[in-house]
Amino acid sequence: MKGSESVWMKTAFIYTDAYLDYDYGPTHPLQVIRLKLTRDLIEAYGLLDLPSVQFIATIKAKGKDLAVFHSEAYLNALNQANEGRFMGDAYLYGLGPGDNPVFPGLLDWSLLATGATLQAVDFVAGGRGEVAFNIAGGLHHAMRARASGFCYINDPVIGIMRLLKLRKRVAYIDIDAHHGDGVQNAFYETDQVLTISLHETGRTLFPGTGFEHEIGKGKGEGYSVNLPFPPFTDDEVYCWAFEEVVPELVQAFNPDIVVTQLGVDAFYNDPLTNFRLSLSGYERVLRRIKDLAPRWVALGGGGYNASNVARAWSLAWAIMNGVELNEELPEPFLKEAVKIGFEGEELKGPLSSPPQGRNEKARTEVERVVGYIKEMVFPKVKGEPSDSP
Ligand code: ZN
Repeated sequence: MKGSESVWMKTAFIYTDAYLDYDYGPTHPLQVIRLKLTRDLIEAYGLLDLPSVQFIATIKAKGKDLAVFHSEAYLNALNQANEGRFMGDAYLYGLGPGDNPVFPGLLDWSLLATGATLQAVDFVAGGRGEVAFNIAGGLHHAMRARASGFCYINDPVIGIMRLLKLRKRVAYIDIDAHHGDGVQNAFYETDQVLTISLHETGRTLFPGTGFEHEIGKGKGEGYSVNLPFPPFTDDEVYCWAFEEVVPELVQAFNPDIVVTQLGVDAFYNDPLTNFRLSLSGYERVLRRIKDLAPRWVALGGGGYNASNVARAWSLAWAIMNGVELNEELPEPFLKEAVKIGFEGEELKGPLSSPPQGRNEKARTEVERVVGYIKEMVFPKVKGEPSDSP
């Protein structure tokens, strides 16, 4: 391990083993063990012992923290569902068998994930450090009165609302393979938050939204940015589009704090999505985000291959701390991790070579989308006069 030049002075990693008390069910794609695997790999690499790092134990959010965004009726339904019993009109709120199961403690789980996001926000906004990472957060699909896409409480929205209350200017960047619909909706009509989501097109993937023409409404026009990608998009096309769109918008918006949703479900072997990204592509994007962010609240997100999740978020945390990682994974980690299904022995290993055979149409389609964003969004965020009606 060797240090690199731009080391931040103070960073916070927020975590608790209490996450493991909750279970979406044996066949559900979201397995909380991925959080423990991530923490273990980060620890085994020595990334919790750096002088810059503060390890913060997660504290649950309070009910009143949730009420800034979620409706009272929905929170009541979650309270009832927290007993683990499907009751009354729970299905009206998106709860039930399938994506958003009712399991014992589902509200407690959500309070932990959201609490950690608020702790990250307080750490960064309070000037205690430059970056904080909550790997349990980033539950970006939850709506005001409805659970969606494995998400019950929208911790990114609640975190951003706290930042707004502290009069911080916030840019939100979402690189999960799924559209960050809940966060976009929450800030669709304001110019106080710039939301940028990069995701697989809604034509082929849940939640079916996030098209380039969704650019915000009223005062918010131009402040919701969507970069949808066709299936089988690879590193080259993805990183090109990121570079064309994100840095210029973020610099023009000039945020105090960048909040990111770092979902890791855009790798070629994720069971739920159709991207062809490698860990090197993910790394390039993260390094760029670090350059762009004056302060950084980093949240987790999707990722349904647990080995990928541990690899990618360990790499993310290393980047946040300006540390290079050895390609060989630490022995003590591997010894334990294989017992719970961890695959491969190297950091990039299985994520270094996505299948060959690119989607030739992807580049043309993405160039069209980037062109649209430059025409319709750039003039609004950059304050330039637009020729468009
Ligand atoms: Zn996702």
